[in-house]
Amino acid sequence: MSSPEKYIGRFAPSPTGRLHPGSLVAALASYLDAKTHHGHWLLRIEDVDEGRTAAGAAESMLELLAALGMQWDGDVVWQSRRKHLYQAAFERLHGHTYPCGCNRREIADSRLGLAPDGAAIYPGTCRHGLAPGRSARSLRVRVPDASGNADLIAFDDRLAGHVGQHLERESGDFVLKRADGFWAYQLAVVVDDAEQGVTDVVRGADLIDSTPRQIYLQHLLGVPTPRYLHVPVVRNEKGEKLSKQTGAVALVARDEAEAVALLRDAAQALALPVGAPATLAAFWRNAVPAWAAMLEARQARAA
Ligand code: GLU
Repeated sequence: MSSPEKYIGRFAPSPTGRLHPGSLVAALASYLDAKTHHGHWLLRIEDVDEGRTAAGAAESMLELLAALGMQWDGDVVWQSRRKHLYQAAFERLHGHTYPCGCNRREIADSRLGLAPDGAAIYPGTCRHGLAPGRSARSLRVRVPDASGNADLIAFDDRLAGHVGQHLERESGDFVLKRADGFWAYQLAVVVDDAEQGVTDVVRGADLIDSTPRQIYLQHLLGVPTPRYLHVPVVRNEKGEKLSKQTGAVALVARDEAEAVALLRDAAQALALPVGAPATLAAFWRNAVPAWAAMLEARQARAA
């Protein structure tokens, strides 16, 4: 498969704990896609939410990826060391942003319901200025109003197909800087993907509903929109997304056999036929063409 421009992909874990099966699936998918396109695979530690960062988690993730034979290109990027970039981007958004004095309960009380990612939809209370006596807690970006579908953001996901979202109805004006002083994921991810020249985002489908907000910020900042591919989220028997909160086990690979077993499980979650390789080299020899074949079959079905 060839592409006219250089392919740059990335894996961007949040170091809230050790790598778990769900995050390994996202890592594997993004790695295989980069290899299929003879591209670069960057590693970015998304520790912008410093309150949730677990000590040693990032280092253990890097160690495990290396033990699995997933070598990243270039230096690892840490969001906690790039706050000046988020500040600069925020300043460029001047005129589209405003301070918001609402707390969580007030927003929930407006009963507009929940956005697909579980956040309460913001009713626009502070859009036209803070009420007297209120002080700013967070900073928000204004989304277009729904008249004439101005707020509709759509994109073609390489796996999930056409996705569209009405930002005003389904998200409302969203937070760029949080009440606890940390920059929001939505801003940091857009700034970093653009600054690192990422052409292809491959990640879990739990982030598909965030993508329209990210595309909207890309438009406002005048940066390119990457291609997106969201892989199905790994769930436990109760149907919950695997994460530290739902008790997902942390992965360990003490030897090559354990490393291969972890990768085979992750490949299975992606429905990739990789056979029964006994070594890491054999796993990667099978997995890259299996991913390429899956993409081709997907394209043939869509055509
Ligand atoms: N840091 C996010 C996570 O671990 C992923 C962000 C992204 O891939 O855009 O869920």
